[in-house]
Amino acid sequence: MKRLLILASKLGYQTGSFAEAARRLGAEAVFGTDRCGRLDDPWADGAVPLHFEDPEQAGRLLASTLRGQRFDSILALGDRPTSTAAHAARALGLTYNSTQSVENCRTKLRQREVLRDAGLPVPDFFAFSLSEDISRVLPRVKFPCVVKPLSLAASQGVIRANNASEFMVAARRVQTLLESPELRATREPSLDRLLVERYIPGDEVAIEALLTHGELRVLAIFDKPGHPEGPYFEESIYVTPSQQPALAQASLAATLRASARALGLTHGPVHAEFRLNEDGPWVLEISPRPIGGLCSRALRFGPEKIFLEELLVRHALEMNGSDLPREKESSGVMMIPVPRSGILEGVEGEAPAAATPGVSELHITARLHDFIAAWPEGSSYLGFIFARGEEPAEVVAALQQAHAKLHFTLAERLPVEHPLAGKIPARARED
Ligand code: ADP
Repeated sequence: MKRLLILASKLGYQTGSFAEAARRLGAEAVFGTDRCGRLDDPWADGAVPLHFEDPEQAGRLLASTLRGQRFDSILALGDRPTSTAAHAARALGLTYNSTQSVENCRTKLRQREVLRDAGLPVPDFFAFSLSEDISRVLPRVKFPCVVKPLSLAASQGVIRANNASEFMVAARRVQTLLESPELRATREPSLDRLLVERYIPGDEVAIEALLTHGELRVLAIFDKPGHPEGPYFEESIYVTPSQQPALAQASLAATLRASARALGLTHGPVHAEFRLNEDGPWVLEISPRPIGGLCSRALRFGPEKIFLEELLVRHALEMNGSDLPREKESSGVMMIPVPRSGILEGVEGEAPAAATPGVSELHITARLHDFIAAWPEGSSYLGFIFARGEEPAEVVAALQQAHAKLHFTLAERLPVEHPLAGKIPARARED
């Protein structure tokens, strides 16, 4: 039986579907996670508890815990486990990206530096320490700009600023977020610095790709219709195939290939975000992991229409079928935006939304009675709507119609002190 090691921060839907894909293929999935508190998750039997903030140590621990067991491959889901996966792969002798290459992707600053030095198109940028006097930072900023944390994901803490006063407000807001007990608890490096970069106008696309011993194959290019121009950047609709002209698509693929090479990435899934304008493609971010959350359900391959997770498991385990083409149909997903921060007290309209012609699946993933934060503090969506159709425009219309039928009741959260830090959460203060 083939055995696959999967590292993930969250044991939820995504890990569940990878485990299921492995099972379908007659393989066994073993998990490593840093969410020890969630080990009662039914998918996570026997998960090895790890601290992803110290990848070298976590990789060593994983290798020693699993000593004597045979593994055929390793996959990391999400940004945080990739460095640990690289260290563990080296110790266990598995094919994976080098530790140096994932280190090049671990912070947005490091990635910008590597890509800029390789002559690839990235926005002008600089980083500053939050202990610096902001009036000394201001003269270096060119507007419009984007302020962002060095190592968060899902657009959390990413804010556009058009002038000096917006910049000061944005920097303070991201600082408050980075100082929150929830983020401090991740012990991520670089929570004490911010990245500032030139705002790049234009269309936005996401690319899902797969590297095999250095050869990159584009699996899908997603358009992001109605992508935000700021000040905050929560995702909304992804739809494929892209309607960008063939030349632009070729240029995106070429830039992605060159970027992966410059970063040193060689093996496994890649998710990338680009902006496109009259100057061509601009790299926003390249991540050595698959698309997050449930979004991989938007991609199906081959006559059996296997989902992306199964394709990736087949690829990792060197089984047939990882070269299957994506289906011909248009396909899209809407990450359901969070209209405002609050406690989710009710969801109405699920049945009519799910019955919208063209809609294939609807999942509300936010839990009732839990607090959910809107962007820029937020990082998780209310749920996901999937649609399929002949044309991308049809898919987008179906997603929008379904979304219009949903109603979310979000109640204001009363400010309470955080039990550990004695701090009132930032959003509760502002609401
Ligand atoms: P994350 O990894 O948290 O998603 P990104 O750096 O990819 O952070 O930024 C998230 C989103 O913010 C992007 O998808 C894009 O819409 C917007 N964005 C980020 N940087 C820029 C930029 N320099 N110019 C224009 N938009 C940007």
